[in-house]
Amino acid sequence: MVLKMSSLFLRTLREDPADAEVTSHRLLVRAGYVRRVAPGIFTMLPMGLRVLRNIERVIREEMDAIGGQELSFPALLPREPYEATGRWTEYGANLFRLKDRRQGDYLLGPTHEEMFTLAVKDMCSSYKDLPLTLYQIQTKYRDEARPRAGILRGREFVMKDSYSFDVDDDGLRSAYARHREAYINIFDRLGLDYVICSAMSGAMGGSASEEFLATCEIGEDTFVRCTNGDYAANVEAVVTPAPAARPIDGLPAAQVVDTPHTPTIETLVDLFNAQEDLRRDGAAWSAADTLKNVMLTLTLPDGKREPLAVGVPGDREVDLRRVEAAVSPAEVAPMTEAEFAQHPALVKGYIGPGVLGEKGASEIRYLVDPRVVVGTAWITGADEPGKHVMNLVAGRDFTPDGTIEAVRIVDGDICPIDGGALEQARGIEIGHIFQLGRKYANALGLTVLDQNGKAQVVTMGSYGVGVSRAIAVVAEQTADDRGLCWPRELAPADVHVVAAGKTDEIRGGAERLAEQLEAAGLTVLLDDRKDVSPGVKFNDSELLGVPTIVVVGKRLADGVVEIRDRKTGDKSEVALAEAVTAVVSQIG
Ligand code: ATP
Ligand code: MG
Repeated sequence: MVLKMSSLFLRTLREDPADAEVTSHRLLVRAGYVRRVAPGIFTMLPMGLRVLRNIERVIREEMDAIGGQELSFPALLPREPYEATGRWTEYGANLFRLKDRRQGDYLLGPTHEEMFTLAVKDMCSSYKDLPLTLYQIQTKYRDEARPRAGILRGREFVMKDSYSFDVDDDGLRSAYARHREAYINIFDRLGLDYVICSAMSGAMGGSASEEFLATCEIGEDTFVRCTNGDYAANVEAVVTPAPAARPIDGLPAAQVVDTPHTPTIETLVDLFNAQEDLRRDGAAWSAADTLKNVMLTLTLPDGKREPLAVGVPGDREVDLRRVEAAVSPAEVAPMTEAEFAQHPALVKGYIGPGVLGEKGASEIRYLVDPRVVVGTAWITGADEPGKHVMNLVAGRDFTPDGTIEAVRIVDGDICPIDGGALEQARGIEIGHIFQLGRKYANALGLTVLDQNGKAQVVTMGSYGVGVSRAIAVVAEQTADDRGLCWPRELAPADVHVVAAGKTDEIRGGAERLAEQLEAAGLTVLLDDRKDVSPGVKFNDSELLGVPTIVVVGKRLADGVVEIRDRKTGDKSEVALAEAVTAVVSQIG
């Protein structure tokens, strides 16, 4: 195919769009691949659609290779199945809900677990019908709070979602492993730099789960990796290795201490170190010896609010995203003044374990960092104005309701796999694989008869790839200061032929070369625009990012054209007669 720029539905822009925050957004709009319709809603123009189709092709090939069968569900869905699984409510404000003319409730599908589960329930009844892997490449709708960075986080976007159905856990594990391999193939073929992170299951409610994160400075996901390279995890999923419990016998008794004028943990620690009777032998007190109790409010999916106290060592910050992941599907916010006032047992600035816990005077659930193990002794609030308590021992003087991963991970934290040092990096989620288990099958009654004629609840996996997002992610990772720079597998054309000159010879020569390249099986973008200067055409060729550029210009008179590599910038002259062979061999 030859795409002629003289008639192609394409306009490149000289100026950056005013609302573009990131490179990929800026370039995809400027190069005429996508166009904004409303926040988080974009039109795919011909060039963008070609890249999208290429990504879809790669995904289809790899999904078919693991035995996936493609189908397509509607995006407009009835409320009932989502009501049955609780997600009509749980999805909160992210769900687009609408009514039909009869006032029936509908939604625009944010993801399709319910529909797949019901379809399999309709059509399968025996273990002989399984295992089964179904997928679709389809448009999803989520009313994202912060649609961002163009098609990176849209409110309408294309996702590949697949679902596996098995009779037993071994089957699920092997379906998961096959998807993992397929995803590695897909993202390798897309030419992405990525890591596979162990993730929290969050609102989906299940067990094993990994995210594929494209490494990228502008990513919204912070992930954590071990500098030894053996571990990568979502910040939300990092597990703090809990120290062993310590003996309680022989520890000094708890003691309440006057601590006036200690508004910060630093001033509190200074007071303890300065006062002779409070000093300790060996090491000075530090913030890590204090136990800080942070008051939060959870909002449950049904709108109910519930207080939560989180106890963490005083040298650590509470990371609300980690807390939120731990209490999902509830949402988390700091406790408001008004809510605080409803709990007279809480003394601001001096809150201690003494009043916390479901059995404490406040009756507020109290969860602590995993470092607060039995036998650890703390300086913490004494629940009286101006007083703290020291040597308050976990397991002796207080017993929390449980532990929670709440502290912000910092560089140098301990890797749970090998004890190495953790460091943080940023990424964009491009895929997610997830062992759902029986949650949806239970909620919707999906069972099959096993070999013995007994009904078994089916176990499921769910697996997503951000298809339209991948366009932006590849652009983000590959673009340079001159423009987009597509890997071959995704490029909207194989070769970009530039007619660099206004004479009939040059234009005719470029056109003939384009036809020959087409005859060799290539997709050709031909810049045959009449009143555009060679300089503008060169700039556009770099902006558009087709990997191989052939310039047909003045040297045509000598039977010579120039081949440019978009990525490296390498240029070489070849005889016109050799041009097709040379381009084909470059493309491989
Ligand atoms: P994120 O954390 O980025 O919001 P998610 O956890 O909501 O992603 P999933 O529900 O697992 O994502 O969806 C599967 C894939 O769909 C994601 O891995 C991501 O690549 C893509 N995706 C999710 N939300 C969006 C969006 N708003 N715009 C574009 N792609 C998206
Ligand atoms: Mg999301």
